Parts: sequence; C-alpha cells; structure tokens
Amino acid sequence: MSDSTSVFRPGLLAGQVAIITGGGTGIGFGIAELASALGAHVVLASRKPEHLAPAVEALTKAGGKASAEQVDVRDLDAVKAMVGRVADTHGRIDLLVNNAAGNFYVPSADMSPNAWRSVIEIDLFGTFHCSQSVYPVMAKQGGGRIISISMTLHYRGWPLMAHATAAKGGIDALTKTLAVEWAPQNIRVNAIAPGPIPTEGVRKAFAPPAGSGVADVFAAVEEKMAAHAKRTIPLGRWGTPRDIANMVAFLASPAGDWVTGGIFVIDGGEWLAKPGGWGTS
Ligand code: NAP
Repeated sequence: MSDSTSVFRPGLLAGQVAIITGGGTGIGFGIAELASALGAHVVLASRKPEHLAPAVEALTKAGGKASAEQVDVRDLDAVKAMVGRVADTHGRIDLLVNNAAGNFYVPSADMSPNAWRSVIEIDLFGTFHCSQSVYPVMAKQGGGRIISISMTLHYRGWPLMAHATAAKGGIDALTKTLAVEWAPQNIRVNAIAPGPIPTEGVRKAFAPPAGSGVADVFAAVEEKMAAHAKRTIPLGRWGTPRDIANMVAFLASPAGDWVTGGIFVIDGGEWLAKPGGWGTS
C-alpha cells in the first residue's frame, strides 16, 4: 500500500507493529491510515465492533495490514490480555498510540462521580494501562515508541471540561515521567496536543438536530464553522487527522530517535491566540 498524498517515503514504517487505541474513528483512524500506508501493521483497539470492523476493512482494501482488538482501556486485565495477543501474533510491538478518550460538556458543580471517573479512567488510566502493558514487550525487544494524544485546553482552563482537562494534564505529566524512567530501555515517550479537529464526533455536536433533514442548514453550519476557524485559528483552518498523523509518523520513524518527553502542539497556533478570537479587533 502506498499513499501519494504522504510526504514520507514509502515503506518508512515497514516491519513495525503499531497498536492504536481508538483507531477505528476520527484522529486515531487518520493515524492508522498513514501508518499502514507507510508499511506498519496497525492494530486498532477499542470497544465497539461497529467502529473497528469497517476501519480494518477500509485499511486492508487499500492494501494495508490491519487487525482489530476489542478492548476497554479502563480494564487493565483486558488491556494486558490484548497486548499479550498482539505480541504473540506479531512477535513485537514498536509503537503504541494512546488515542482513546471520552469527552462531553458538563458543569463542574453538577458533575456526577460517574462522569468524572469515566473520563479520567478512559483518558488517564487507559493511557497508563496501555503504556505499562507494552513496557515489557518493548523493553525485551530493545525499545519502542509510545505517543499519547493530549490536548491544549488545560493550558488555559476550559469551562465544562474539568474531567478531560484534568486527565490530559495527567497524561502530559505521565509522558515526561515515563520518558525519563524508560529511556534506559530505549522507549521514547512523547505526546501530541492537537487543536480543534472536526472529526465525526465533533461534527455531530455542531450538526442540526436529528430529523431536521435540511441540507442547506448543514451547509450553513459548515460555513459558520469555517468562518469561526478563520477567526480563531491564526493559520486560518481547522486541523485534520492527517496533521496529527504526520507528527506520529515522524516520531515513529528514525527521525524521532533522539526525541523523548516532548509534548508537540499541532494546532495552527490556536491556543496561543488571544481568547475572543484571532483577527478580531
Ligand atoms: P473520537 O473519534 O470520538 O475517538 C475516540 C476513540 O476512543 C473512539 O474510537 C472510541 O472507540 C475510543 N474509545 C472511547 N472510549 C474507549 C474505551 N473505554 N476503551 C477503548 N477505546 C475507547 O474522537 P477524536 O476527535 O478522533 O479524538 C481522538 C483523540 O484526540 C482523543 O484523545 C481526544 O481527546 C484528542 N483530541 C481531539 C481533538 C479534536 O478536536 N477532535 C482535539 C484535541 C484532542 P470505541 O467507541 O469503539 O471504544
């Protein structure tokens, strides 16, 4: 499989085995698409077969190597078993991308213990569970790469997202600690902090109510979103899954050999821009 739109050389990740949590949708799928186009075998790991099966089919149809593992990253035993199966099948694990996450808006004063726990467990515990589980495999084979998908919203505080911002702040801290602790095993641990990327999940939140069924309403929403991006993002557009995948490919390649403990913001300058909007007077 090759991808004429990729800036990387064909076969760059050939022979690598990559686990991508949440790899069936959105940014995770974009990462899987590029990694498999560059020759890696990608293992998509998440809870829902309806996300996993079509994604594996699309990747294999395009000529890539892909398989699925149904797992809830909150469950450490299940994660360990999943990693064991991948290691047994492929003999190695070169790359783990901790991409799975949950998120929804909720006022902090009303947040239920369950809502708090759920997001912290998926994002932060899940990242630790997967990282800890691949550690022995990577240590034994002489190294590997762990890349966690963080965010930028906790840099300045983001109302209604106490759970997700707390979890991603924890992921950033974990990234730095594991980078130092596991460097002797040649395990490079980095994070990527994407800016706003209108994945299917994000689009649903902006879409007109179900049943309104009016195409021009959706077009108007899209137009409004594009205008909003122009106003709030210095580089003038939303991000795409490929923007994030490109950084994953770089870090997973030999170019990333001396890179560890980094948190790479890929956001078109969004979080640095003044609250209230780039380009507003
Ligand atoms: P998405 O499409 O909703 O992806 C989330 C993925 O996580 C899904 O594939 C989901 O698959 C999986 N997942 C959720 N709970 C899980 C669990 N308990 N166990 C295993 N997998 C689970 O959202 P996205 O926009 O692509 O986001 C991907 C990552 O980018 C997230 O870490 C998010 O925080 C980060 N991010 C996104 C944006 C953005 O603007 N889109 C900005 C900054 C950061 P299943 O439902 O099949 O389990």
